[in-house]
Amino acid sequence: MKVLINAGPWLPVPPTGYGGIENVVATLIPPLRRMGVRVVLATVGQSTIEVDEVLRVYDEGQFPHLQEPYNQVMGIAHAHQAALVAELRRRDDIDLVHDHLEVVGPAVLSALGGPPVLHTLHWDLRKHPDFYGSFPRDISVNGVSNSQLSRAPARLRAASLGAVHLATPLADAPPLDVPRGEHVIVMGRICPMKGQHIAARVCRDLGLPLVMAGPVCGLNTPEELNAVLDDPGHPLNGHGDLRYHAERVAPYLDGDLIRWIGAVGGEERDRLYASARAALFPIQWDEPGGTAVVEALALGVPPVGLRRGVLPEIIEHGRTGLLADTEEELVGLLARVDEIDPEECRREARTRFSPHVMAQRYLDLYERTLTRARRR
Ligand code: UDP
Repeated sequence: MKVLINAGPWLPVPPTGYGGIENVVATLIPPLRRMGVRVVLATVGQSTIEVDEVLRVYDEGQFPHLQEPYNQVMGIAHAHQAALVAELRRRDDIDLVHDHLEVVGPAVLSALGGPPVLHTLHWDLRKHPDFYGSFPRDISVNGVSNSQLSRAPARLRAASLGAVHLATPLADAPPLDVPRGEHVIVMGRICPMKGQHIAARVCRDLGLPLVMAGPVCGLNTPEELNAVLDDPGHPLNGHGDLRYHAERVAPYLDGDLIRWIGAVGGEERDRLYASARAALFPIQWDEPGGTAVVEALALGVPPVGLRRGVLPEIIEHGRTGLLADTEEELVGLLARVDEIDPEECRREARTRFSPHVMAQRYLDLYERTLTRARRR
């Protein structure tokens, strides 16, 4: 089977630091290829992952442009997708398209009338209500959690082949040889949904050291952020996530107990993550997929979070992590992290969240997508 995987125009595969969808694609491709699937990857020129063929649309990741006006963002996505469609019109060797590009992906591919399409929903399904009205009927979809799909509009649920949980290559790796520190970590984009302000408040009140890692508005370091803040004319100034950082997170940052270190990537990220006492997820939304949660398990770092979105599907309270219904409860749980056995967390990740498990599930969905298309 030859599959065209569309990773979209935003970041390279694998991403060098933060990257949601691109991380998923980078995790999926190696086991798929080991199972005999030939992979053509539509991505940006900076991607370094080994595949059978690369379709480069933009040379560089367009992620920094995501903060621009909506029309411009859509323009980038459309240009990427149009190039893909032109390529698919030129050839007939692709059996299936596995699309990951939000909003414009399915609509444009449906118009093509080419190979069957499986579209993976990565996001909070309430974010783009206008998307569902036009969601094409001939495209199959899958979610990244049952919780995400349960909130999906009927039209998407009808097109759905089920949920495939996210995975991490860390699930297959031997434990990292790093000493456990005293700090708690929050790994993720700095934004109201991820709830860094709650992590900061809770840790400050408990006197627990907190490290927050992640970009804000695509800015990867405190220096990059300061340069934007110092330039009142900069287009990012006034952006919601930037205001969130300035107004609700920054007041807690004391450079000592509560720290924001910007985005981390690669081995540095893994070592920093693995040395934490606990990974905090004080999420303020129904987190659809939660790669960072799965990574915490794989590294043997007990995840502690609010019982929302995908978290109860990934974490078994009391065995592989701790879940609270309220912020007050979260405070109490942080005192209990030593009850969670890191080896149990790792075992769970190896069994349920390894790249091989995810690739097997996708292979099954590819077969079902093809069968559905043949019946039409
Ligand atoms: N991440 C990273 N460096 C950072 C912050 C996050 O590499 O500084 C990674 C994190 O480890 C995870 C991904 O970015 O692999 C975030 O995915 P998740 O599903 O947790 O959140 P999303 O941003 O997609 O909602």
